[in-house]
Amino acid sequence: MNNLKIQIDTKEIEISATNKGTTEILTMQVKVSVEEDSFLHIGSSPSPLTEKKAAVFKVDRTPVIPASSFKGALRNQIELLLIRNLSELKTQFNLDDENKLKPCIPAPRPTKSEQELLNLGYRGSIMEGKKYTGHCEIQVDEDKIEIPDGLGICPVCYFMGATGIMGFLRFSNFYPHEGDWLVDQTNIRIDRKTGTAAPKAKVDGEQVKPGTIFHGTIEIINKTPQGFEFGNPRKIGNTIIDLWLEKWQESDTNKRKKLMIETLLFPAIYNIKFLGGQKSKGAGKVKVEIEG
Ligand SMILES: [Zn+2]
Repeated sequence: MNNLKIQIDTKEIEISATNKGTTEILTMQVKVSVEEDSFLHIGSSPSPLTEKKAAVFKVDRTPVIPASSFKGALRNQIELLLIRNLSELKTQFNLDDENKLKPCIPAPRPTKSEQELLNLGYRGSIMEGKKYTGHCEIQVDEDKIEIPDGLGICPVCYFMGATGIMGFLRFSNFYPHEGDWLVDQTNIRIDRKTGTAAPKAKVDGEQVKPGTIFHGTIEIINKTPQGFEFGNPRKIGNTIIDLWLEKWQESDTNKRKKLMIETLLFPAIYNIKFLGGQKSKGAGKVKVEIEG
């Protein structure tokens, strides 16, 4: 396996290939900078009870962007990219049915607000009358493989994973350089009349200052121990589960990988402009770049 050269705008970025046991990995170095007019809110440790949408938590007094925060933001950007470019991608991947490219809603049962997403170009309503509920899941019943009816696993879950099947991407947590990060203790301005925090001024706890840079990695599993290769449709038994890749005419596997990264993965990564909650207070504005 050779390193992959990826074109983004006028820049060329080389992704290095390594072997980890029986797995081949392509590693991307990713940089997240907090925008100058923003900050990141540091939340308390996530627990199922609080379920706060902070982008950053502190581990051993160092702020960390957890892999899950970044992953959630990327999933969302791949979804939007697919919805926006559906017709061009349908041509690129030589598909008869564009529904195969539509992103799923990653929950077993859509809530009301998720139901609204169906109208925005997600899967779901299109499968009325069948048992398909709009999310990707692989079920192995004895020797039979169950995939989302007629559509297969969606492109988002190909990258990110779905119930019963892993995706091709792995994420690290994101850390600032040692001693390089900046944390500001918030001063909450109190409204003298009401005795409570003035609106807009109330940001609980600590924040990561603008300009702070976090580093992490995204790994693409190039070849899995089961023999799945990034860029190709996966086959379990006799069932092809990634139907969106089945009709693609490109036969050069390196070109397939390169195109998938250039048209789907890199643009989605660069489109991440926000991490975490408190957007209305100006928090969470970031710039994401691949270092090469
Ligand atoms: Zn999916």
